[in-house]
Amino acid sequence: MDLGIAGKRALVCASSKGLGRGCAEALAEAGVDLVMNARGSEALEQAAAEIRAKYKVTVDAVAADITTETGRAAVLAKGPFDILVTNAGGPPPGLWSDWSREDFIKALDANMLTPIALMQAVLPGMIAQGWGRVVNITSVSVKAPIAVLGLSNSARAGLTGFVAGTARQVAGKGVTINNLLPGIHATDRAIALDGAVVKARGISMEEAIAERAATIPAGRYGTAAEFGATCAFLCSQHAGFIVGQNVLLDGGATNTTL
Ligand code: NAP
Repeated sequence: MDLGIAGKRALVCASSKGLGRGCAEALAEAGVDLVMNARGSEALEQAAAEIRAKYKVTVDAVAADITTETGRAAVLAKGPFDILVTNAGGPPPGLWSDWSREDFIKALDANMLTPIALMQAVLPGMIAQGWGRVVNITSVSVKAPIAVLGLSNSARAGLTGFVAGTARQVAGKGVTINNLLPGIHATDRAIALDGAVVKARGISMEEAIAERAATIPAGRYGTAAEFGATCAFLCSQHAGFIVGQNVLLDGGATNTTL
């Protein structure tokens, strides 16, 4: 399917690895020029070079912490953008009684206020040109809480509320905003969480992965490529009537009818 977005320009945040990289790859395959971002410049430059070589699109790499004002200013200076994919690392796991005000502020900054600030920066340009696509990478924890990820549950719920109202305010201008909710995907983040289980329970990594995969009706972890393809579709010309949705990509793990 031709996604109809060749020649558009996208900012894909936190995209040297994992789900962000999957989104960058799928958009590049559709002919979209990219600004890619991550904190570490080595992996970022390598990812940018691989995507440039494979898909023949323009890729600017901006090494910066997207959760800081200066980091956001550095990536936004590469605009204007037709497409925005927001993403950042997730907050650390813990117990409800562990977290201080500072921990909450950090999580809110990274996973709620940063995507909101990015949307506030790019939406006026998208509205002015009558076309834009925003996809926020959030989490399955928005639909079904993950007890040890209370910081994520809280911050991402706040972002979801902002998107629900804002998406409906900009839809009439040709701009769509939707959220993609990953369940378990085979990325460094998932492997780090499995590593914690290995340590705590004294089992092997293979056992930890097999146990977790068995909790997913699809019987496996998702891939960054599948995730990216869904993101690219939401950014396509065909998805203009999909507004303010929370699209779950979890292999059926969340046991709900709707
Ligand atoms: P990942 O494999 O660890 O990759 C994270 C990417 O983001 C890397 O490129 C990393 O590069 C970059 N990054 C992290 N913090 C950043 C920051 N402050 N500024 C700029 N770049 C940053 O993670 P992932 O699995 O793709 O997860 C992406 C998001 O989805 C996270 O918020 C995660 O919590 C959420 N999620 C993931 C899963 C899953 O199963 N994978 C499930 C639910 C939710 P640098 O480290 O060099 O900055």
